Amino acid sequence: MSSDSEEVSVRLRQQIDASGPISVAEYMRVANTAYYGRADPLGADGDFITAPEISQMFGEMVGIWLSDIWLRHRPATCHYVELGPGRGTLAADALRTMRRFGWEPSVHFVENSPALRAKQLQAVPDALFHDNLDSLPTDAPLCIVANEFFDALPVRQMVATQAGWRERVIVRNNEAGFAAIPGATAVDDLIPEQFRSAAMGSIYEICPDASSIMHQLSARLAKQGGVMLVIDYGYTQPALGDTLQAVQGHQYADPFNNPGQVDLTAHVDFFELSNCARNGGLLAVGPSDQGAWLSGLGIDQRAQILAATNPDRAGDINAERNRLVGPDAMGTLFKVLAAYAQDWPQPEGFGL
Ligand code: SAH
Repeated sequence: MSSDSEEVSVRLRQQIDASGPISVAEYMRVANTAYYGRADPLGADGDFITAPEISQMFGEMVGIWLSDIWLRHRPATCHYVELGPGRGTLAADALRTMRRFGWEPSVHFVENSPALRAKQLQAVPDALFHDNLDSLPTDAPLCIVANEFFDALPVRQMVATQAGWRERVIVRNNEAGFAAIPGATAVDDLIPEQFRSAAMGSIYEICPDASSIMHQLSARLAKQGGVMLVIDYGYTQPALGDTLQAVQGHQYADPFNNPGQVDLTAHVDFFELSNCARNGGLLAVGPSDQGAWLSGLGIDQRAQILAATNPDRAGDINAERNRLVGPDAMGTLFKVLAAYAQDWPQPEGFGL
């Protein structure tokens, strides 16, 4: 165990000893801030791999999707914004594609990991960084991309008990670990009507940060113009279930052990995100399956061209395409949601 992760465990233990159990969200926030801050967790040698790291085709399809909207709307200026850009690979691939259409937007990354900022700067040297949404430009429309960003945000978990719905909290389990138990706070008011009488032990999750970010960006897009693309795994209708998971070295791990050392994620509530967008005055399309969206934008044609120009990599290119699109891989697990200002063109790729 590295000293960093020991430090996170020690800090959380001290906090719990001093002021009692903490919410699952607080635990996840502290753990993930340390986790992403300490090093680059992506890639085959890291803990997990994301779509843009699988193939350049993913970022290229995002670039094509944005360029199509830009060509149809032709705003005088427009900023490219990415939330949690990882290694900057998606942005580099998308921006290269956008340049082919004659579009060179300024680039704004919302990223709080120093380790990943350094990587992102290598991939996109002229990127400007933001700690949060407040400092994003207000002078022009925004084209916002978020791939596997929302799943890293802290979730609150509610659990059905005999005494009603309680917030799940984190306590110390033994010297090394933590455990989640029903806390003292009654949270029945937070549970949608249809789930109030769910079976004992049922879990209902909410992600206040995700809703808040979506609200803020919807207000920006309604005022400034622009579009937002959200790609992640998650559910499309309100649902019960404990989706908090930990991944380390491409294997599932215990989310309540080694905080700061494992990647903690939860499924994204696309129903809530599109509601936030619509309530904020935007139009929304999707969520669609990632496979259908990529196919609609022409990933197969792109794979054929890449394979023809790199015959020695043809097999790999086909395998990468299958990984992104295949129903047994990322094709149906991952969803794509687009939200856009009312006077902006309807985005492509949603089979409408
Ligand atoms: N989009 C990238 C990386 C996904 S990993 C890809 O597809 O490869 C999640 C990313 O979100 C990392 O860059 C992480 O540092 C960033 N992140 C997580 N929580 C954040 C927060 N609260 N604010 C800003 N960035 C955050």
